[in-house]
Amino acid sequence: MPNFNLSDEVFTRAAQQFPTPFFLYDEQGIRQAAHGLQEAFSWNPRFKEFFAVKAQPNPHILKLLLDEGCGLDCSSMTELMMAERLGVRGADLMFSANAMPPEEFAYARKLGATINLDDISDIETLRQHGGIPDTICMRYNPGGLFGDGNAIMGSPKDSKFGWMREQLSEGLLRLKELGVKRFGLHAFLASNMLGEVYYPLLAKLLFETGKELTDETGLPLDFINLSGGIGIPYKPEDKAADIALIGQRVQEDYEESFGDSELSNVAVNTELGRYITGPYGWLVTRAMHEKRIHKHYIGVDACAVNLIRPAMYGAYHHIHIAGKRDDPAVETYDITGALCENNDKFAIDRRMPAIELDDILVIHDAGAHGAAMGYQYNGRLRAAEVLHRQDGSFQLIRRAETQEDYFATLFGEGLPTF
Ligand SMILES: *Cc1c(COP(=O)(O)O)cnc(C)c1O
Repeated sequence: MPNFNLSDEVFTRAAQQFPTPFFLYDEQGIRQAAHGLQEAFSWNPRFKEFFAVKAQPNPHILKLLLDEGCGLDCSSMTELMMAERLGVRGADLMFSANAMPPEEFAYARKLGATINLDDISDIETLRQHGGIPDTICMRYNPGGLFGDGNAIMGSPKDSKFGWMREQLSEGLLRLKELGVKRFGLHAFLASNMLGEVYYPLLAKLLFETGKELTDETGLPLDFINLSGGIGIPYKPEDKAADIALIGQRVQEDYEESFGDSELSNVAVNTELGRYITGPYGWLVTRAMHEKRIHKHYIGVDACAVNLIRPAMYGAYHHIHIAGKRDDPAVETYDITGALCENNDKFAIDRRMPAIELDDILVIHDAGAHGAAMGYQYNGRLRAAEVLHRQDGSFQLIRRAETQEDYFATLFGEGLPTF
């Protein structure tokens, strides 16, 4: 079930104060999600969540997460620069990128970030750009299909990320020669996983592989990074993942793998994005047009440039009408944006209460990979972002993009002044 913690009074009040469309984020929900995760893993004294900046790169939101004790996981120069400006460095920073330009390695090293190498060839690049650190992380790709007896969760054999098993052995020996003192192991093998199975299964694989690599190289395993991938209940019939139970099952695997051995000080890390902010962000939009042809359409003032997931993946996002959340679903609508593209639809054949023009439509689960994936196709511009503070007030945390922003990169001979 999508998150209905905010009342319609909040959405309506926000839509009176800010022009639609805009994203609304809930401070309390985000803080509670971060806190719940840390509680679930509190059995591991060195546990740390490195929030995946790409999911929600608004520095106001990142500040809330830093305040809750999280670090940041960056995957580009721009994200590293944002982390730097927020004062995040050293052990609070992960850098996980693939096919990255060498200067990004150098910059990440300058900030003291823990570097997650995506490929064995990155060793040489890092040696030349930034240098080899004492602690290194390697991203593992076990190939094949990933899952248990009941379900296939992902297909690592088709994934561009990570190192093959035998490359880990070879590469870690090379890294040892170059001066590495300890290592971490990372993998991201499935996305948006509901239920309590994925993390424990992944943890077991990484704990055991980490132990083997320690035996082979003599280098101590310093941490396991379970990365992202815990899902959120986008659909009404979905059940939220039980994070406490996930933490407990990872702990059982940890004790089974490490017991009282010298490895019992291995840190467990995560890089969740979607799980932390996804359910606590909504795209607030207004019904502008009603059209009846072969189907019944409602046109809203947001479009796929604001939230591309439905158009890109056919993703389901729940939508409710402010003030009508308990009304019976009596109509079947396609909810569309204004792009000149027929896949610009937030919902297709959706049963909903009757919509009137000017109604506020609240599109759920837009708090991660929402605004972050915004673009400007058709000259439609990025929406504003508003934070609902714990005291009930609203704070504009990113203004809407303007035509001036759009024109700002255009210049050159023969052009008018934009
Ligand atoms: C995208 C990403 C994440 C976050 O994934 P979620 O599905 O939002 O949890 C974490 N780590 C890395 C390296 C990523 O690329």
